[in-house]
Amino acid sequence: MNPEEFLRWKGDRLRRQAQLRQRMPSLKKRKGPALDQEASALHAAVFSRLDCLACAQCCKTIPPMVNKTDAARIARHLRMSEGAFYAQYLRRDEDGDTVMNASPCPFLEQDHRCSIYEHRPKACRAYPHTDRDFSKNLDLHVRNVAYCPAVFQIMERLAGLG
Ligand code: SF4
Ligand code: SF4
Repeated sequence: MNPEEFLRWKGDRLRRQAQLRQRMPSLKKRKGPALDQEASALHAAVFSRLDCLACAQCCKTIPPMVNKTDAARIARHLRMSEGAFYAQYLRRDEDGDTVMNASPCPFLEQDHRCSIYEHRPKACRAYPHTDRDFSKNLDLHVRNVAYCPAVFQIMERLAGLG
């Protein structure tokens, strides 16, 4: 993704999201292995030319979920007790999930690298969830159009808008 494409995403994302919401009924009718396969191929194509280090919008705007295993692993890496790690970095969100307590993420560095990359939460590894079981998360993908330029491109191509 070049800077022009990034700017197009910034300027068009909410309009595109509204268009995609209107097309959800027809996208939902296509749910299944064929749609998953198409999305997976688009995911590979989009990410082959997109540098997440030039973006980092997810790390800047979406506090990731941190499960117990993540918390234990990261606390060990930081040589902190789990209690101290929880107190310093985590909070409960409105859905009752445990998430990072700040946006941008406290582990995001100036150059967009993750300072705990090898130990990052499972949710960070899986984001933006477009490479498998795509059909199961259609509502999430439409929401993520506003947060992730890759999801924006994948969704608009799937819906015949791009
Ligand atoms: S833990 Fe790392 S990958 Fe996850 S949001 Fe924070 S900076 Fe990004
Ligand atoms: S928002 Fe999407 S494109 Fe940007 S860094 Fe995150 S996963 Fe990569």
